[in-house]
Amino acid sequence: SGRSEYNLRSPICCIMGHVDTGKTKLLDCIRGTNVQQGEAGGITQQIGATYFPAENIRQRTKELKADANLKVPGLLVIDTPGHESFTNLRSRGSGLCDIAILVVDIMHGLERQTIESLNLLKMRNTNFVIALNKVDRLYGWKACHNASIVKAMKEQSRDVQFEFRTRLTQVVTEFKEQGINTELYYKNKNMGKDTFSIVPTSAISGEGIPDLLLLLVQWTAKTMAARLAYSNEVQCTVLEVKVVEGHGTTIDVILVNGELHEGDQIVVCGMQGPIVTSIRALLTPDPMKELRVKGSYEHHKKIKAAQGIKINAQGLEHAIAGTSLYVMGPDDDAEDIKEAVMEDMRSVMGRVNKCGEGVYVQASTLGSLEALLDFLKTPEVSIPVSGIGIGNVHKQDVMKASVMLEKKKEYATILAFDVRVAQDARELADEVGVEIFAADIIYHLFDQFKVYIDNLKE
Ligand code: GDP
Ligand code: MG
Repeated sequence: SGRSEYNLRSPICCIMGHVDTGKTKLLDCIRGTNVQQGEAGGITQQIGATYFPAENIRQRTKELKADANLKVPGLLVIDTPGHESFTNLRSRGSGLCDIAILVVDIMHGLERQTIESLNLLKMRNTNFVIALNKVDRLYGWKACHNASIVKAMKEQSRDVQFEFRTRLTQVVTEFKEQGINTELYYKNKNMGKDTFSIVPTSAISGEGIPDLLLLLVQWTAKTMAARLAYSNEVQCTVLEVKVVEGHGTTIDVILVNGELHEGDQIVVCGMQGPIVTSIRALLTPDPMKELRVKGSYEHHKKIKAAQGIKINAQGLEHAIAGTSLYVMGPDDDAEDIKEAVMEDMRSVMGRVNKCGEGVYVQASTLGSLEALLDFLKTPEVSIPVSGIGIGNVHKQDVMKASVMLEKKKEYATILAFDVRVAQDARELADEVGVEIFAADIIYHLFDQFKVYIDNLKE
Protein backbone atom coordinates (compact mmCIF):
# COMPACT_ATOMS: atom_id res chain seq x y z
CA SER A 1 0.00 0.00 0.00
CA GLY A 2 0.95 3.65 -0.28
CA ARG A 3 1.43 3.74 3.41
CA SER A 4 4.84 2.13 3.69
CA GLU A 5 6.02 3.64 0.43
CA TYR A 6 5.61 7.19 1.63
CA ASN A 7 5.39 6.72 5.37
CA LEU A 8 3.02 9.60 5.86
CA ARG A 9 1.01 10.05 9.02
CA SER A 10 -2.72 10.65 8.91
CA PRO A 11 -3.70 14.25 8.26
CA ILE A 12 -5.58 16.00 11.05
CA CYS A 13 -8.76 17.73 10.02
CA CYS A 14 -10.80 20.27 11.98
CA ILE A 15 -14.39 21.19 11.32
CA MET A 16 -15.50 24.81 11.66
CA GLY A 17 -18.37 27.12 10.85
CA HIS A 18 -21.39 28.96 12.17
CA VAL A 19 -23.70 27.32 14.69
CA ASP A 20 -26.40 25.09 13.14
CA THR A 21 -24.72 24.77 9.76
CA GLY A 22 -24.49 21.00 10.38
CA LYS A 23 -20.96 20.41 11.72
CA THR A 24 -22.03 17.74 14.20
CA LYS A 25 -24.41 16.17 11.72
CA LEU A 26 -21.69 16.02 9.06
CA LEU A 27 -19.39 14.17 11.44
CA ASP A 28 -22.25 11.84 12.38
CA CYS A 29 -22.87 11.23 8.71
CA ILE A 30 -19.22 10.56 7.88
CA ARG A 31 -18.98 8.23 10.85
CA GLY A 32 -22.42 6.74 10.95
CA THR A 33 -23.56 5.52 7.58
CA ASN A 34 -21.12 2.72 7.27
CA VAL A 35 -21.52 1.68 10.86
CA GLN A 36 -25.24 1.40 10.29
CA GLN A 37 -24.62 -0.69 7.22
CA GLY A 38 -22.33 -2.96 9.19
CA GLU A 39 -19.24 -1.79 7.36
CA ALA A 40 -17.52 0.01 10.16
CA GLY A 41 -14.25 -1.08 8.57
CA GLY A 42 -12.08 -0.11 11.47
CA ILE A 43 -13.54 3.28 12.21
CA THR A 44 -12.78 4.06 15.80
CA GLN A 45 -14.26 6.91 17.69
CA GLN A 46 -11.53 8.14 19.92
CA ILE A 47 -10.93 10.83 22.42
CA GLY A 48 -11.93 14.09 20.84
CA ALA A 49 -11.31 12.67 17.41
CA THR A 50 -12.49 10.03 14.97
CA TYR A 51 -10.00 7.99 13.03
CA PHE A 52 -10.97 6.86 9.52
CA PRO A 53 -8.61 4.26 8.08
CA ALA A 54 -7.77 4.63 4.38
CA GLU A 55 -9.50 1.33 3.63
CA ASN A 56 -12.76 2.72 4.88
CA ILE A 57 -12.38 5.89 2.86
CA ARG A 58 -11.52 3.81 -0.19
CA GLN A 59 -14.78 1.95 0.15
CA ARG A 60 -16.86 5.03 0.67
CA THR A 61 -15.38 6.75 -2.36
CA LYS A 62 -15.50 3.78 -4.72
CA GLU A 63 -17.84 5.38 -7.21
CA LEU A 64 -15.40 8.24 -7.65
CA LYS A 65 -12.97 5.68 -9.06
CA ALA A 66 -10.18 6.76 -6.79
CA ASP A 67 -9.48 3.40 -5.24
CA ALA A 68 -5.91 3.43 -6.49
CA ASN A 69 -3.54 4.86 -3.96
CA LEU A 70 -4.61 6.98 -1.05
CA LYS A 71 -1.06 7.45 0.26
CA VAL A 72 -2.09 8.42 3.80
CA PRO A 73 -2.95 5.72 6.37
CA GLY A 74 -6.21 7.46 7.21
CA LEU A 75 -7.78 10.67 8.34
CA LEU A 76 -8.09 11.93 11.90
CA VAL A 77 -11.09 14.22 12.22
CA ILE A 78 -11.34 16.30 15.35
CA ASP A 79 -14.70 15.70 16.96
CA THR A 80 -15.18 18.72 19.13
CA PRO A 81 -16.31 21.17 16.50
CA GLY A 82 -15.82 24.85 17.01
CA HIS A 83 -13.19 27.47 17.31
CA GLU A 84 -12.00 26.07 20.54
CA SER A 85 -10.62 22.84 19.19
CA PHE A 86 -9.02 24.70 16.35
CA THR A 87 -7.30 27.25 18.53
CA ASN A 88 -6.25 24.50 20.90
CA LEU A 89 -4.66 22.41 18.25
CA ARG A 90 -1.32 24.01 18.24
CA SER A 91 2.11 22.81 18.96
CA ARG A 92 5.30 24.73 19.26
CA GLY A 93 3.76 27.89 18.02
CA SER A 94 2.09 26.63 14.89
CA GLY A 95 -1.32 25.25 14.10
CA LEU A 96 -1.75 21.51 14.38
CA CYS A 97 -4.65 21.26 12.04
CA ASP A 98 -3.41 20.13 8.62
CA ILE A 99 -6.64 21.01 6.90
CA ALA A 100 -10.07 22.25 7.92
CA ILE A 101 -13.62 21.84 6.72
CA LEU A 102 -15.48 25.14 6.79
CA VAL A 103 -19.20 24.38 6.84
CA VAL A 104 -21.63 26.85 5.25
CA ASP A 105 -25.41 26.42 5.16
CA ILE A 106 -26.47 26.80 1.52
CA MET A 107 -29.71 28.44 2.61
CA HIS A 108 -27.97 31.06 4.80
CA GLY A 109 -24.63 31.76 3.15
CA LEU A 110 -21.83 33.33 5.16
CA GLU A 111 -22.69 34.08 8.78
CA ARG A 112 -20.88 35.74 11.65
CA GLN A 113 -18.98 32.70 12.89
CA THR A 114 -18.17 31.68 9.32
CA ILE A 115 -16.23 34.90 9.05
CA GLU A 116 -14.71 34.43 12.50
CA SER A 117 -13.58 30.95 11.39
CA LEU A 118 -12.20 32.35 8.14
CA ASN A 119 -10.11 34.84 10.08
CA LEU A 120 -8.70 32.11 12.30
CA LEU A 121 -7.83 30.03 9.24
CA LYS A 122 -6.13 32.98 7.58
CA MET A 123 -4.21 33.79 10.74
CA ARG A 124 -2.89 30.25 11.09
CA ASN A 125 -2.42 29.95 7.35
CA THR A 126 -4.44 26.72 7.34
CA ASN A 127 -5.79 25.30 4.13
CA PHE A 128 -9.48 24.41 4.04
CA VAL A 129 -12.31 23.09 1.93
CA ILE A 130 -15.83 24.45 2.12
CA ALA A 131 -18.71 22.06 2.71
CA LEU A 132 -21.77 23.82 1.28
CA ASN A 133 -24.18 21.87 3.41
CA LYS A 134 -27.92 21.18 3.43
CA VAL A 135 -28.32 20.89 -0.36
CA ASP A 136 -31.25 18.58 0.39
CA ARG A 137 -33.14 21.66 1.52
CA LEU A 138 -33.26 23.03 -2.02
CA TYR A 139 -36.94 22.95 -2.93
CA GLY A 140 -37.78 19.66 -4.65
CA TRP A 141 -34.41 17.96 -3.95
CA LYS A 142 -34.43 14.28 -4.85
CA ALA A 143 -32.41 12.27 -2.35
CA CYS A 144 -29.58 10.12 -3.76
CA HIS A 145 -28.21 8.60 -0.60
CA ASN A 146 -24.42 8.88 -0.24
CA ALA A 147 -23.97 9.59 -3.94
CA SER A 148 -21.23 11.76 -5.36
CA ILE A 149 -22.44 15.30 -5.85
CA VAL A 150 -22.05 15.26 -9.64
CA LYS A 151 -24.20 12.18 -9.89
CA ALA A 152 -26.75 13.55 -7.44
CA MET A 153 -26.95 16.85 -9.27
CA LYS A 154 -27.72 15.10 -12.57
CA GLU A 155 -30.76 13.52 -10.93
CA GLN A 156 -32.23 16.88 -9.98
CA SER A 157 -34.92 18.82 -11.86
CA ARG A 158 -34.01 21.98 -13.76
CA ASP A 159 -35.62 24.08 -11.05
CA VAL A 160 -33.47 22.50 -8.36
CA GLN A 161 -30.36 22.90 -10.47
CA PHE A 162 -31.25 26.52 -11.08
CA GLU A 163 -31.79 27.24 -7.39
CA PHE A 164 -28.52 25.51 -6.60
CA ARG A 165 -26.59 27.64 -9.08
CA THR A 166 -28.20 30.85 -7.83
CA ARG A 167 -27.35 30.09 -4.21
CA LEU A 168 -23.85 28.89 -5.09
CA THR A 169 -23.17 32.13 -6.97
CA GLN A 170 -24.37 34.11 -3.98
CA VAL A 171 -22.02 32.23 -1.64
CA VAL A 172 -19.08 32.64 -4.03
CA THR A 173 -19.78 36.38 -4.08
CA GLU A 174 -19.91 36.53 -0.29
CA PHE A 175 -16.55 34.78 -0.04
CA LYS A 176 -15.18 37.20 -2.60
CA GLU A 177 -16.24 40.05 -0.33
CA GLN A 178 -14.01 38.46 2.31
CA GLY A 179 -11.11 38.37 -0.14
CA ILE A 180 -11.43 34.63 -0.77
CA ASN A 181 -11.77 33.04 -4.21
CA THR A 182 -13.86 29.89 -4.30
CA GLU A 183 -15.02 27.43 -6.93
CA LEU A 184 -16.88 24.11 -7.11
CA TYR A 185 -14.19 21.56 -6.32
CA TYR A 186 -14.44 19.59 -9.57
CA LYS A 187 -14.06 22.76 -11.59
CA ASN A 188 -11.27 24.19 -9.50
CA LYS A 189 -8.05 24.25 -11.51
CA ASN A 190 -6.29 26.57 -9.06
CA MET A 191 -6.85 24.67 -5.88
CA GLY A 192 -4.12 25.43 -3.39
CA LYS A 193 -2.91 28.38 -5.41
CA ASP A 194 -5.49 30.99 -4.77
CA THR A 195 -8.88 29.34 -5.07
CA PHE A 196 -10.58 27.32 -2.36
CA SER A 197 -12.82 24.38 -3.20
CA ILE A 198 -16.52 24.08 -2.46
CA VAL A 199 -18.07 20.64 -1.96
CA PRO A 200 -21.89 20.67 -1.86
CA THR A 201 -23.08 18.20 0.78
CA SER A 202 -26.07 16.92 2.67
CA ALA A 203 -25.41 15.58 6.15
CA ILE A 204 -28.90 14.09 6.14
CA SER A 205 -28.91 12.08 2.91
CA GLY A 206 -25.15 11.92 2.40
CA GLU A 207 -24.76 13.43 -1.07
CA GLY A 208 -21.28 14.85 -1.56
CA ILE A 209 -19.78 13.03 1.45
CA PRO A 210 -17.64 10.74 -0.75
CA ASP A 211 -16.36 13.81 -2.59
CA LEU A 212 -15.49 15.56 0.65
CA LEU A 213 -13.59 12.58 2.08
CA LEU A 214 -11.65 11.96 -1.08
CA LEU A 215 -10.77 15.59 -1.55
CA LEU A 216 -9.41 15.77 1.99
CA VAL A 217 -7.14 12.72 1.78
CA GLN A 218 -5.96 13.27 -1.78
CA TRP A 219 -5.35 16.92 -1.35
CA THR A 220 -3.40 16.61 1.88
CA ALA A 221 -1.26 13.74 0.56
CA LYS A 222 -0.54 15.60 -2.65
CA THR A 223 0.38 18.96 -1.23
CA MET A 224 1.55 18.28 2.31
CA ALA A 225 3.91 15.34 1.97
CA ALA A 226 6.67 17.13 3.85
CA ARG A 227 4.38 18.27 6.60
CA LEU A 228 2.81 14.81 6.87
CA ALA A 229 6.06 12.83 6.83
CA TYR A 230 5.90 10.60 9.89
CA SER A 231 8.47 11.53 12.51
CA ASN A 232 9.54 9.65 15.63
CA GLU A 233 9.80 12.82 17.59
CA VAL A 234 6.72 13.11 19.78
CA GLN A 235 4.47 15.99 18.90
CA CYS A 236 1.43 16.06 21.12
CA THR A 237 -1.15 18.60 22.25
CA VAL A 238 -3.45 18.62 25.26
CA LEU A 239 -7.01 19.02 24.02
CA GLU A 240 -8.92 18.78 27.28
CA VAL A 241 -8.37 18.25 30.99
CA LYS A 242 -11.15 16.09 32.40
CA VAL A 243 -12.10 14.36 35.61
CA VAL A 244 -13.27 10.83 34.81
CA GLU A 245 -14.92 8.53 37.32
CA GLY A 246 -12.50 5.85 38.39
CA HIS A 247 -9.58 7.54 36.64
CA GLY A 248 -9.21 10.87 38.44
CA THR A 249 -7.99 13.84 36.41
CA THR A 250 -7.04 12.76 32.91
CA ILE A 251 -5.89 14.63 29.83
CA ASP A 252 -7.22 14.07 26.33
CA VAL A 253 -4.46 14.60 23.83
CA ILE A 254 -3.93 14.54 20.09
CA LEU A 255 -0.75 12.70 19.25
CA VAL A 256 0.40 14.19 15.95
CA ASN A 257 3.73 12.47 15.60
CA GLY A 258 5.78 9.80 17.32
CA GLU A 259 4.76 7.12 19.77
CA LEU A 260 3.63 7.18 23.40
CA HIS A 261 4.20 4.30 25.84
CA GLU A 262 2.80 3.34 29.17
CA GLY A 263 5.34 4.45 31.77
CA ASP A 264 6.77 7.29 29.64
CA GLN A 265 7.86 10.26 31.66
CA ILE A 266 5.98 13.30 30.40
CA VAL A 267 6.07 17.03 31.04
CA VAL A 268 2.93 19.14 30.75
CA CYS A 269 2.32 22.86 31.16
CA GLY A 270 0.48 23.66 34.41
CA MET A 271 -0.98 26.78 35.99
CA GLN A 272 1.63 26.59 38.75
CA GLY A 273 4.53 25.54 36.55
CA PRO A 274 5.63 22.44 34.66
CA ILE A 275 4.08 19.12 35.68
CA VAL A 276 6.43 16.13 35.51
CA THR A 277 4.67 12.80 35.76
CA SER A 278 4.58 9.36 34.15
CA ILE A 279 1.89 7.81 32.02
CA ARG A 280 -0.12 5.39 34.14
CA ALA A 281 -2.49 4.40 31.37
CA LEU A 282 -2.96 5.09 27.66
CA LEU A 283 -6.66 4.83 26.92
CA THR A 284 -9.04 4.87 23.99
CA PRO A 285 -12.77 4.20 24.23
CA ASP A 286 -13.54 0.54 23.79
CA PRO A 287 -14.84 0.45 20.21
CA MET A 288 -17.17 -2.45 20.91
CA LYS A 289 -18.62 -1.13 24.11
CA GLU A 290 -18.76 2.57 23.61
CA LEU A 291 -22.34 2.62 22.42
CA ARG A 292 -23.63 0.70 25.41
CA VAL A 293 -21.25 1.32 28.29
CA LYS A 294 -20.13 4.88 28.55
CA GLY A 295 -16.72 5.37 30.06
CA SER A 296 -15.34 1.97 29.21
CA TYR A 297 -11.78 2.20 27.94
CA GLU A 298 -9.31 0.04 26.15
CA HIS A 299 -5.76 0.06 27.56
CA HIS A 300 -2.68 0.24 25.31
CA LYS A 301 0.99 -0.45 25.94
CA LYS A 302 1.88 1.98 23.17
CA ILE A 303 0.13 4.13 20.57
CA LYS A 304 1.48 5.58 17.36
CA ALA A 305 0.48 8.89 15.74
CA ALA A 306 -1.81 10.28 14.56
CA GLN A 307 -4.39 9.42 17.23
CA GLY A 308 -6.61 10.83 19.94
CA ILE A 309 -5.74 9.40 23.37
CA LYS A 310 -6.80 9.76 26.97
CA ILE A 311 -3.86 9.78 29.39
CA ASN A 312 -4.15 8.85 33.01
CA ALA A 313 -1.32 10.08 35.24
CA GLN A 314 -0.81 11.64 38.63
CA GLY A 315 -0.79 15.38 39.21
CA LEU A 316 -2.68 16.53 36.12
CA GLU A 317 -5.19 18.68 38.03
CA HIS A 318 -3.64 21.97 36.96
CA ALA A 319 -2.68 21.00 33.42
CA ILE A 320 -3.61 23.60 30.81
CA ALA A 321 -5.52 22.60 27.70
CA GLY A 322 -4.08 23.91 24.48
CA THR A 323 -0.42 23.38 25.34
CA SER A 324 2.17 20.86 24.15
CA LEU A 325 3.03 17.66 25.94
CA TYR A 326 6.69 16.58 25.95
CA VAL A 327 8.22 13.18 26.58
CA MET A 328 11.39 13.10 28.63
CA GLY A 329 13.93 10.99 26.74
CA PRO A 330 17.01 9.37 28.31
CA ASP A 331 19.31 12.03 26.88
CA ASP A 332 17.07 15.01 27.56
CA ASP A 333 17.87 17.73 30.02
CA ALA A 334 14.92 18.01 32.39
CA GLU A 335 15.32 21.76 32.79
CA ASP A 336 15.32 22.35 29.03
CA ILE A 337 12.13 20.36 28.65
CA LYS A 338 10.43 22.17 31.51
CA GLU A 339 11.44 25.44 29.94
CA ALA A 340 10.04 24.40 26.56
CA VAL A 341 6.78 23.23 28.09
CA MET A 342 6.09 26.61 29.68
CA GLU A 343 6.88 28.47 26.48
CA ASP A 344 3.29 28.43 25.10
CA MET A 345 2.03 29.88 28.34
CA ARG A 346 4.70 32.56 28.46
CA SER A 347 4.08 33.70 24.92
CA VAL A 348 0.42 34.29 25.74
CA MET A 349 1.17 35.91 29.12
CA GLY A 350 3.63 38.22 27.42
CA ARG A 351 0.82 39.98 25.58
CA VAL A 352 -0.85 41.37 28.62
CA ASN A 353 -0.60 45.11 29.17
CA LYS A 354 2.15 45.54 31.73
CA CYS A 355 1.25 49.09 32.74
CA GLY A 356 -1.73 47.53 34.37
CA GLU A 357 -4.88 49.18 33.02
CA GLY A 358 -7.43 46.89 31.46
CA VAL A 359 -10.08 44.25 31.95
CA TYR A 360 -9.47 40.81 33.43
CA VAL A 361 -9.88 37.94 31.00
CA GLN A 362 -10.63 34.35 31.91
CA ALA A 363 -10.93 31.48 29.38
CA SER A 364 -11.24 27.71 29.34
CA THR A 365 -7.99 26.87 27.59
CA LEU A 366 -4.81 28.54 26.48
CA GLY A 367 -6.06 28.37 22.89
CA SER A 368 -9.36 30.07 23.63
CA LEU A 369 -7.59 32.65 25.78
CA GLU A 370 -5.27 33.40 22.91
CA ALA A 371 -8.18 33.74 20.47
CA LEU A 372 -9.92 36.14 22.85
CA LEU A 373 -6.76 38.23 23.36
CA ASP A 374 -6.31 38.45 19.60
CA PHE A 375 -9.87 39.61 19.21
CA LEU A 376 -9.65 42.23 21.97
CA LYS A 377 -6.55 43.61 20.30
CA THR A 378 -8.09 44.24 16.87
CA PRO A 379 -8.45 47.96 16.09
CA GLU A 380 -12.25 47.84 15.93
CA VAL A 381 -12.41 46.38 19.41
CA SER A 382 -9.29 47.60 21.17
CA ILE A 383 -9.98 46.65 24.79
CA PRO A 384 -6.87 46.61 27.00
CA VAL A 385 -6.23 43.61 29.23
CA SER A 386 -4.47 43.77 32.58
CA GLY A 387 -4.80 40.21 33.79
CA ILE A 388 -5.60 36.73 32.53
CA GLY A 389 -6.54 33.36 33.90
CA ILE A 390 -7.44 29.89 32.67
CA GLY A 391 -10.29 27.81 34.07
CA ASN A 392 -13.46 28.69 35.96
CA VAL A 393 -13.81 32.07 37.63
CA HIS A 394 -13.08 31.94 41.36
CA LYS A 395 -13.00 34.46 44.18
CA GLN A 396 -9.33 35.22 43.73
CA ASP A 397 -9.98 36.24 40.12
CA VAL A 398 -12.58 38.72 41.32
CA MET A 399 -10.04 40.03 43.81
CA LYS A 400 -7.54 40.58 41.02
CA ALA A 401 -10.10 42.33 38.83
CA SER A 402 -11.19 44.55 41.73
CA VAL A 403 -7.80 46.29 41.70
CA MET A 404 -9.15 48.33 38.76
CA LEU A 405 -11.95 49.84 40.86
CA GLU A 406 -9.56 52.52 42.01
CA LYS A 407 -7.77 53.01 38.70
CA LYS A 408 -10.45 52.82 36.03
CA LYS A 409 -13.83 51.60 37.14
CA GLU A 410 -15.04 50.36 33.76
CA TYR A 411 -12.11 47.94 33.66
CA ALA A 412 -13.07 46.34 36.95
CA THR A 413 -14.62 43.71 34.73
CA ILE A 414 -14.11 40.02 34.06
CA LEU A 415 -14.70 38.74 30.55
CA ALA A 416 -15.31 35.03 31.11
CA PHE A 417 -15.06 33.03 27.90
CA ASP A 418 -16.40 29.48 27.87
CA VAL A 419 -15.95 29.00 31.62
CA ARG A 420 -18.23 28.79 34.63
CA VAL A 421 -18.44 31.40 37.35
CA ALA A 422 -18.40 30.00 40.88
CA GLN A 423 -21.30 31.14 43.07
CA ASP A 424 -19.05 32.69 45.72
CA ALA A 425 -17.15 34.53 43.00
CA ARG A 426 -20.43 35.95 41.70
CA GLU A 427 -21.42 37.04 45.23
CA LEU A 428 -18.09 38.70 45.91
CA ALA A 429 -18.26 40.50 42.56
CA ASP A 430 -21.70 41.92 43.42
CA GLU A 431 -20.45 42.99 46.81
CA VAL A 432 -17.35 44.86 45.66
CA GLY A 433 -18.69 46.12 42.33
CA VAL A 434 -16.86 43.99 39.77
CA GLU A 435 -18.82 43.22 36.60
CA ILE A 436 -18.66 39.68 35.22
CA PHE A 437 -19.67 38.99 31.63
CA ALA A 438 -19.81 35.34 30.64
CA ALA A 439 -20.39 33.87 27.18
CA ASP A 440 -19.17 31.07 25.00
CA ILE A 441 -19.01 33.14 21.83
CA ILE A 442 -16.39 35.87 21.72
CA TYR A 443 -18.65 38.39 20.00
CA HIS A 444 -21.28 38.06 22.70
CA LEU A 445 -18.74 39.03 25.35
CA PHE A 446 -17.81 42.07 23.35
CA ASP A 447 -21.46 43.05 22.83
CA GLN A 448 -22.18 42.82 26.56
CA PHE A 449 -19.11 44.82 27.45
CA LYS A 450 -19.91 47.47 24.87
CA VAL A 451 -23.45 47.97 26.14
CA TYR A 452 -22.02 48.31 29.64
CA ILE A 453 -19.45 50.91 28.62
CA ASP A 454 -22.01 52.89 26.60
CA ASN A 455 -24.34 52.95 29.60
CA LEU A 456 -21.57 54.17 31.86
CA LYS A 457 -20.79 57.03 29.50
CA GLU A 458 -24.39 58.26 29.43
P1 GDP B 1 -23.83 22.45 14.23
O1 GDP B 1 -24.30 23.48 15.22
O2 GDP B 1 -23.07 23.11 13.12
O3 GDP B 1 -23.10 21.31 14.84
O4 GDP B 1 -25.16 21.90 13.53
P2 GDP B 1 -25.89 20.51 13.75
O5 GDP B 1 -25.14 19.40 13.18
O6 GDP B 1 -26.29 20.40 15.18
O7 GDP B 1 -27.17 20.74 12.84
C1 GDP B 1 -28.09 21.78 13.10
C2 GDP B 1 -29.45 21.41 12.56
O8 GDP B 1 -29.41 21.31 11.13
C3 GDP B 1 -29.96 20.05 13.04
O9 GDP B 1 -31.33 20.12 13.21
C4 GDP B 1 -29.61 19.11 11.88
O10 GDP B 1 -30.46 18.00 11.81
C5 GDP B 1 -29.79 20.03 10.69
N1 GDP B 1 -28.93 19.65 9.57
C6 GDP B 1 -27.60 19.46 9.61
N2 GDP B 1 -27.14 19.12 8.39
C7 GDP B 1 -28.21 19.08 7.56
C8 GDP B 1 -28.38 18.81 6.18
O11 GDP B 1 -27.44 18.50 5.42
N3 GDP B 1 -29.66 18.89 5.70
C9 GDP B 1 -30.72 19.23 6.46
N4 GDP B 1 -31.92 19.29 5.91
N5 GDP B 1 -30.58 19.50 7.78
C10 GDP B 1 -29.35 19.42 8.31
MG1 MG C 1 -22.66 20.96 16.88
